[in-house]
Amino acid sequence: LVEARDVTLSFGSTPALRGASLSAEAGEILAVMGPSGSGKSTLLHCLAGILTPGSGEVRFDGRRVDTMGEAERSALRRDRFGFVFQFGQLVPELTAEENVALPLLLGGMRRGAAVRQAHPWFERLGLDGLERRRSGELSGGQAQRVALARGLVASPRVLFADEPTGALDSLTGEQVMELLVSAAREQGTTVILVTHEPRVAAYADREVIVRDGRTTSIGVIS
Ligand code: ATP
Ligand code: MG
Repeated sequence: LVEARDVTLSFGSTPALRGASLSAEAGEILAVMGPSGSGKSTLLHCLAGILTPGSGEVRFDGRRVDTMGEAERSALRRDRFGFVFQFGQLVPELTAEENVALPLLLGGMRRGAAVRQAHPWFERLGLDGLERRRSGELSGGQAQRVALARGLVASPRVLFADEPTGALDSLTGEQVMELLVSAAREQGTTVILVTHEPRVAAYADREVIVRDGRTTSIGVIS
């Protein structure tokens, strides 16, 4: 479903990716691991059509993402992809409920319907009663669960998660991962999960290691 082939990308004269390849099937959870600065986030951004590689190919569902125009790419991001980042990145002016509903609103859904569709996520992620809180009034673990709900609310084909448990202690991180994995399995969502924590990667079906901008190995999680 998602594929990168021999992707390179430089920031100015700094090469961040020097030939990275991976693929993930529909419904698969793929962990992208590797040291800090190795190019994990850059690779994720190429797969999601946020960055354009210097060379190589990126595909989603057989379509070339790297050569797509910006309008088509943003439609893809809005309609097919979900995102969860390390620090949640909730919109502070909005309530938790509005944050979760945001992808639906951006997709053109009316407010009432979007908030109704957001609602079940609060119960399922153990966030009951926090719907009207603003992000500054949530704990780190709560904010990360809200970010997870926002990433999944529109039933994306692919969820791109960059260190989704990075700001959490290991117990909360495992709870967030369990929720992420069960929701993804239920919806058949493909998850591209960037992490440097082996305990987080253990939730994936397979892992890819990135070193120095190159994907060096693909393995099955034992
Ligand atoms: P971490 O685990 O610390 O998040 P990472 O594997 O995600 O690291 P990237 O963020 O992909 O690493 O960065 C890869 C390389 O590209 C690094 O050398 C980094 O300094 C560089 N880099 C990343 N983003 C930019 C940018 N916007 N401008 C210039 N250089 C960048
Ligand atoms: Mg990173």
